[in-house]
Amino acid sequence: MIDPKLMDDEARLSALGRMEILETAPEEPFEKIVNLVRTVLAVPISTVSLVDRDRQWFKAYRGLDVQETPRSISFCTYAIQQAEPLIVEDSLLDERFVRNPLVLGGPRIRSYAGVQVRSPDGYNVGSLCAMDTQPRRFSPADIAILSNFANIVSDELELRLIASTDHLTGALSRRGFEEQVSREVARHARYHRPSSMISFDIDHFKKINDSFGHPAGDEVLRHVGRLAMQTLRPTDCFGRMGGEEFAVLLPETSAADAFIAAERLRLEIQNHAFVLARDHVKVTASFGVSVVENFADVGEWFASADKMLYEAKARGRNCTRMAGLDAAECARAAPATSETLPLR
Ligand code: GH3
Ligand code: MG
Ligand code: MG
Repeated sequence: MIDPKLMDDEARLSALGRMEILETAPEEPFEKIVNLVRTVLAVPISTVSLVDRDRQWFKAYRGLDVQETPRSISFCTYAIQQAEPLIVEDSLLDERFVRNPLVLGGPRIRSYAGVQVRSPDGYNVGSLCAMDTQPRRFSPADIAILSNFANIVSDELELRLIASTDHLTGALSRRGFEEQVSREVARHARYHRPSSMISFDIDHFKKINDSFGHPAGDEVLRHVGRLAMQTLRPTDCFGRMGGEEFAVLLPETSAADAFIAAERLRLEIQNHAFVLARDHVKVTASFGVSVVENFADVGEWFASADKMLYEAKARGRNCTRMAGLDAAECARAAPATSETLPLR
């Protein structure tokens, strides 16, 4: 049976989008791999090709002098539609490529081997290609080598994403943050060290966008990111979970200390004068705190912090709620202010 993922180009394009790789600068791991492919397989041309909607874009390329070509003339567009490597020993004998301008004109691709590069969720986003200007056979050993390199490319793409920061705020991306949390849960299971998580969300953020425009909203997000990074400890991890929702992982931090950290950040945000279109605007955020001790599972921990955040919203926003602490205790620990945005 054909894998449905091979048939769904829209889902594949979304997966490619999520990898945040198109139009990025050359990066070492991919440069190394195309060099190695050229040397080990003794081919003049090697590329890491990603198949976008209407083009193939090369993350790395050797032996070619273009960064992209139309998708319609790419070999790679055939490679991504199948699970097995695509091997063309002589393009002049292959109906699909005999009239291809890349075959008839420069770079005169006469033979081709491509192994699929996959997204973490299993879509063929492109391929690692070896190309020659002569007809040639690719031995099973050649294909095995190319497949190993293609797997490294897929892994590198994933690692890159894990490590990547959110461009707007400089915070960890959601994926990067989740990775850190998984590690922390594993560490807790082994060493039983305390660790806490804060989840927070800007209050009535939609109104900021509506009143001042999306770019002003972005400016608020950037500022909140900066305030958080200044306020938190260097050992804390700060992530943007999406939109106007953020999270902080505080290793070696008890629930009580995490609560204090959340309150400190809440007050920093509340007291900061955000200047938007020459207006000074007050921005607030709601916080949920949860300590790892109660959970073995990453998902449960996130859910608990989110639940507390939701309670903080329900309690009138601009306050912090913590699992295991009842409303009265929270109020005593830090009286909630109900300062609201001076927005019309
Ligand atoms: P609440 O207090 O309940 O959290 O209300 P809210 O308005 O903050 O929440 P809601 O989820 O209704 O709206 C969030 C808004 O954030 C909607 C969305 O357009 C906006 N948003 C999401 N991502 C971005 C972004 O990157 N930049 C900007 N400027 N706005 C964004
Ligand atoms: Mg919000
Ligand atoms: Mg939100």
